[in-house]
Amino acid sequence: MTGANSTAQQTPACISDAELFMDELLEDPSLAQTREERRRLQLLTAKAEQNCLHCPLLEQCLYDAVVKHEVAGYCAGTTQRQRQLIRHRLNWRVEGENLDIFAGVHSGHQIDHDEVLRLRQANPTDSLESIALRLGCSLSTVKRHLRKERRGESIGRVKLAPVSPSVEQVMAAYQDVMGVREQGRRAA
Ligand code: SF4
Repeated sequence: MTGANSTAQQTPACISDAELFMDELLEDPSLAQTREERRRLQLLTAKAEQNCLHCPLLEQCLYDAVVKHEVAGYCAGTTQRQRQLIRHRLNWRVEGENLDIFAGVHSGHQIDHDEVLRLRQANPTDSLESIALRLGCSLSTVKRHLRKERRGESIGRVKLAPVSPSVEQVMAAYQDVMGVREQGRRAA
């Protein structure tokens, strides 16, 4: 009995209460269109947040979800949007993230200059075609970005962080983003 209880205590809520974390509104908040749906989303988010805040795995879970993988839906006490904001503060991106969000681009497909360089540096033996494929753009676009860099043309963008952020940096950015959110709530 004791063993079963201690196992249950160690099981993270996202597994023991998978139904909550996999609710379609938490997975995709844009589905909350009506007042009732938005209200329900708020309740679901608050419940998931409480679970995550009491989870012993929170720090590692947040680090992985911010630095290593793009995770859909609610995870580690954060929404997908909040994790993007945390990465933005850390000047960090992960594969699969929408690179256009912080450029304010809502239509078309804008390629991020820093991402082209990062992929090139990370995969020096890959062909430019394969980099273009991964970015979902044409070969000429990749070449154009690399030419710009060789010529030292200014792109007016901040360089990506050269090394992975530390756990402390991620936690500080998390506090920052969640603090901003709380201020926003109070101001609303
Ligand atoms: S912090 Fe991570 S592991 Fe823990 S309940 Fe939340 S999503 Fe699951």
